[in-house]
Amino acid sequence: MRWQPGDGFFWRPEPRAEAFRTDDLELEADVVIVGTGPGGAAAARTLADSGVRVVMLEEGPAKERFRPNQSTVMRYHMQEGGAMVATGSTYMPIAAGRGVGGGTLINSAIAWRCPDEVLDGWTAPLQDHRYSSANMRPVYDWLWEYLGVWETRPEISGENNDLVVRGVRALGWEGGYLSRYTPQCIGCGTCFYGCGTGGKASVNHNFLVEAVENGVRIQADTKVDDVLVTGGRAAGVVGRMFHPETGEAGGRVTVRAPKVIVAAGGIGTPRFLKGISTDLGPAVGVGLHTHPGNAVFGVCKHEVNWWKGATQGAWCHVPGFPGVLPHTSSLPPEVAMLSLAPLGIGAAEAIRLMPHLVGLLVMISDASSGTVGRWPDGRANIGYDFLPSDVDRIKAGMVAGARVLLAGGADWLFCAVSGVGRVSSAEELEARLAPATIRDFTLYASHPMSTCRMGLDPNTSVVRPDGRAHAVEGLYLADSSIFPSSLGVNPSITTMAMSTVIAQGILSSG
Ligand SMILES: Cc1cc2nc3c(=O)[nH]c(=O)nc-3n(C[C@H](O)[C@H](O)[C@H](O)COP(=O)(O)OP(=O)(O)OC[C@H]3O[C@@H](n4cnc5c(N)ncnc54)[C@H](O)[C@@H]3O)c2cc1C
Ligand code: SF4
Repeated sequence: MRWQPGDGFFWRPEPRAEAFRTDDLELEADVVIVGTGPGGAAAARTLADSGVRVVMLEEGPAKERFRPNQSTVMRYHMQEGGAMVATGSTYMPIAAGRGVGGGTLINSAIAWRCPDEVLDGWTAPLQDHRYSSANMRPVYDWLWEYLGVWETRPEISGENNDLVVRGVRALGWEGGYLSRYTPQCIGCGTCFYGCGTGGKASVNHNFLVEAVENGVRIQADTKVDDVLVTGGRAAGVVGRMFHPETGEAGGRVTVRAPKVIVAAGGIGTPRFLKGISTDLGPAVGVGLHTHPGNAVFGVCKHEVNWWKGATQGAWCHVPGFPGVLPHTSSLPPEVAMLSLAPLGIGAAEAIRLMPHLVGLLVMISDASSGTVGRWPDGRANIGYDFLPSDVDRIKAGMVAGARVLLAGGADWLFCAVSGVGRVSSAEELEARLAPATIRDFTLYASHPMSTCRMGLDPNTSVVRPDGRAHAVEGLYLADSSIFPSSLGVNPSITTMAMSTVIAQGILSSG
């Protein structure tokens, strides 16, 4: 089966969003939503479809500002300019998207359902069945159809993915081409810079379009800074507009609404809630999971041209290591050159090697965890400590990744771990990684979650299973911050699914 235009998935040009202005703005709604990523967008669509009057406020720009380079993406479409770093055991950059569409603007659109055992593991502690695998199955089924999720097709996969699939098959491991919500993908390989061709089903091309068609107002360039609370009940939010180019402060924005949904993301939600005038309890910002990882790269005799083909279109399971999930990876040329420099490879040689590189990013379902606070200047203060067992799992995943790349046709390997250098076998990589500590790794994480968890105890959770805050009536959270545990798979579709369920609950509660 192959998705064809008109096959059932929903894709339209991005919706109208209001932009920066200097005068103050006062609005009224039934529900105001902070953030327009997958969480906020799915909730807005569900509510607006039933006639609820919704206003959405988004810190990022009203229109996509995509150029095929990292610096433009960091400036406009990454939270805190792409400079969020967790400290603790080591330094770990954390990426999160920004703009009308949130993280889906710049993600690879890899589509996974949350594993049944994870969903069913939440049922007992939540004393609630709404997220059980049986109840979530129809929601995922609908999302698969609506977003046009499709396994990466050979005609757009590219050699970077094909080599990984060849390696996985040669080893007889579970894995293959990845499913992605990219129904019209042409395989240009630039998902991290935004999809310039309309291939990706980012939420600004579906949920938010339908929401706006049903009367939702999206106010972009607006950073929300407080929740209005009257008599213990949410009464709206306030924020300020900022010019997307100059950063100049504009008008104050006030939205009065009896229901407030915060969907500012795994970092953004606790960063925001730590700054508001109402205390939501001790669990705000506690329990951060990130799916951290590192990559292993291969150099092939033949040309791979990893910039051609679906971004991150192949995966595998590592036998004996559940929760270790390698997928294809590529790097911008300037970052690849920096990674080759420690091997003594200068710029001219790096440029010659560039077409021959292949990559596999290893991410783990982390038992390690961290915290999200807020610095006085409003940036997130992120802490994260690695458990030794997670470091061992990252190493095991990289060694497995080496086996895949070599079995698929790579000639030799390198990775961004200090002291490892150039290696030609998985055994050699394993031996070189053995003495490495987490401080030797160049880490990366783009799945911050579980920082304002749902649960029954207000001391260990921020919201109830239906998304309602323990501390303030009428205040809801609906994004990746509410997961009770690490998912172990890429989280955006589960975020959409859970927000849809939360919005349905709001509708049925009246
Ligand atoms: C580079 C990258 C690649 C990824 N690849 C994948 C993938 O392939 N598959 C997958 O499933 N997941 C992927 N992810 C993760 C996925 O995109 C996120 O898990 C998901 O977007 C989280 O959704 P969310 O609604 O919780 O928050 P977000 O998507 O982070 O949206 C939050 C929104 O709130 C806005 N906001 C924050 N604070 C405020 C405020 N105070 N006022 C107003 N607005 C505010 C932000 O600007 C943002 O637009 C990737 C992420 C990144 C960064
Ligand atoms: S690979 Fe290119 S065309 Fe395909 S979804 Fe990503 S950016 Fe769009």
